[in-house]
Amino acid sequence: DDSVLWLLGDQLNPDLDALSDADAVLLIEAHGFADRKPYHAHKLTLVFSAMRHFRDRLRDRGHDVTYLRAESFGDGLDRFFGEEFAGAPGDADLRLMRPASHGAGDRFRELVAERGGSLELLDNELFWTTPADWHEWAGEPDGEAAGLIVGEDGSADRRYRQENWYRHVRRETGVLMDGDEPVGGEWNYDDLNRETPPDDWEPPERPRFDPDDLTRETHAWVRERFDTWGSDSLDGFAWPVTRGEARAALDAFVRDRLPSFGRYEDAMVEGEPFLSHSLLSPAINLGLLNPREPVRAVEVAYEDRGVEPGAYDPEEDGGIDPNATPLDDFGSGRASVAGAAPVPLNAAEGFVRQVLGWREFTRHVYREAMPALAAANRLEQSADLPPAYWDGDTDMRCLSEAVGHVREHGYAHHVERLMVLSNVALLYGTDPAELNEWFHLGFVDAYHWVTTPNVVAMGSFGTDVLSSKPYAASGSYVNRMSDYCASCPYAVSRTTGEGACPLNALYWDFLAENEETLRGTGRMGLMYSHLDDKSDSELAAIRERASTVRKLAADGEL
Ligand code: FAD
Repeated sequence: DDSVLWLLGDQLNPDLDALSDADAVLLIEAHGFADRKPYHAHKLTLVFSAMRHFRDRLRDRGHDVTYLRAESFGDGLDRFFGEEFAGAPGDADLRLMRPASHGAGDRFRELVAERGGSLELLDNELFWTTPADWHEWAGEPDGEAAGLIVGEDGSADRRYRQENWYRHVRRETGVLMDGDEPVGGEWNYDDLNRETPPDDWEPPERPRFDPDDLTRETHAWVRERFDTWGSDSLDGFAWPVTRGEARAALDAFVRDRLPSFGRYEDAMVEGEPFLSHSLLSPAINLGLLNPREPVRAVEVAYEDRGVEPGAYDPEEDGGIDPNATPLDDFGSGRASVAGAAPVPLNAAEGFVRQVLGWREFTRHVYREAMPALAAANRLEQSADLPPAYWDGDTDMRCLSEAVGHVREHGYAHHVERLMVLSNVALLYGTDPAELNEWFHLGFVDAYHWVTTPNVVAMGSFGTDVLSSKPYAASGSYVNRMSDYCASCPYAVSRTTGEGACPLNALYWDFLAENEETLRGTGRMGLMYSHLDDKSDSELAAIRERASTVRKLAADGEL
């Protein structure tokens, strides 16, 4: 029998173990999904261009690659077994790394079986931790069928806490560990990671991977073939589409952006969609980078260039605190990468936590909590997404900036996703599933396994499976973390009356509206005590303003 490795569009890694013993490779470019909804043109271009580049790379390396463009995977498999595969279907020993998307493995196995073949599912090498690793930490799911950990009302029978998982994985992998202790003595340095840059600070330049002929050709075809959303032009498209480019993107991040990554991780700045974020999620999620690579690269950078938490300040001349003592374990290493700034521990640790902690965590929560997770709607929210999410047309500066970044680049950084895009939708009362779909269509790094826990659970509090309280915030949070409010026509200092920041009234109204569910949940007590302090007339004015804001938003006039 021939062993054929079928690789999906998010498994584009030429160094997989699974490839080494495959006689042939199958790639199916299925298009039907993008006919049903308007995906961001850059997202479709990225995925299809990366697949086509990967095909060429494998062929250059001598692999026998069957590359099929089809409406659906079923159509692709029809052609594979009907025309492309030389033997009888039963002669193909088809293998596939377990897809990240819920139910896809079983569905594909059926599709293959219906055509007379068989499909073996292999472990997915493109995540660091396995389901078995997760169960070792979380315990077996009490014999419950997957998905039952989230009930129909969205309340979870089991709750998972990222911080505990993260510490467990740090211990297991030894990343940034000093024996049994975390390097530097603390697991988490986030108190140093909440600064906003001064006005004259220029973020490090974003590495650009200019579209080559194949990407341009793919983009032209995408525009012709699909109804898309977001920027139509390739001018702003700079994402890596090959493994070589992804490695270069990682090097550039570690060299240039990592030093200021932690410090400005939560900041939002007008006209600066990227700041010091790594911009690596599109490449990691396509499989171009194995998640171990960015984590190890950051660890090495810290060994070479590491300084104490907070000891590097990008705003200072030269950046290095002259009084900082080098860490015991590592030299100050300040000269080790020519021209590169030191890496303070809060930056290295903060990055490692995102990938090793959050990314792996959300993947397992998704696995465990699907299919209920996708439909969870604990707060019973049902509003349609306001039109401003599609056209970016709103006076609310925070929202127009964040939506603008998505329209332009298919990207907004984490705090814009959580504290603006999700937060506004949450306070407004949007159906979490609709918001999930919007994220899925609009972002270059979006896949069902990663948007669903982030959008439905974290952003919309559709279930409490991964957080005990909603990430809901009024205008004062946005004002603290950004420069948006300064140029916004709405007054962040006011809650009621015309011209008041819409987030303020929506926030208090949201708390009042969801009191039954939220008052008792962890850590909401303080906010409810503030709500309790409001007089009846204040509350009435808040509710009136909230209702006006909702109407304006629904009419596209906010
Ligand atoms: P950095 O800030 O540089 O972070 C480094 C890496 O950590 C990221 O590349 C990513 O791989 C990982 N990471 C960090 N946080 C998370 C997280 N919560 N879940 C998974 N991985 C994480 N991430 C996606 O990859 N795809 C999505 O579609 C997506 N949608 C999101 C929607 C919402 C509402 C929220 C709150 C978060 C979402 N995230 C998503 C997580 C996170 O915002 C992005 O991974 C990050 O902004 C990507 O940009 P970056 O590579 O510059 O990240």
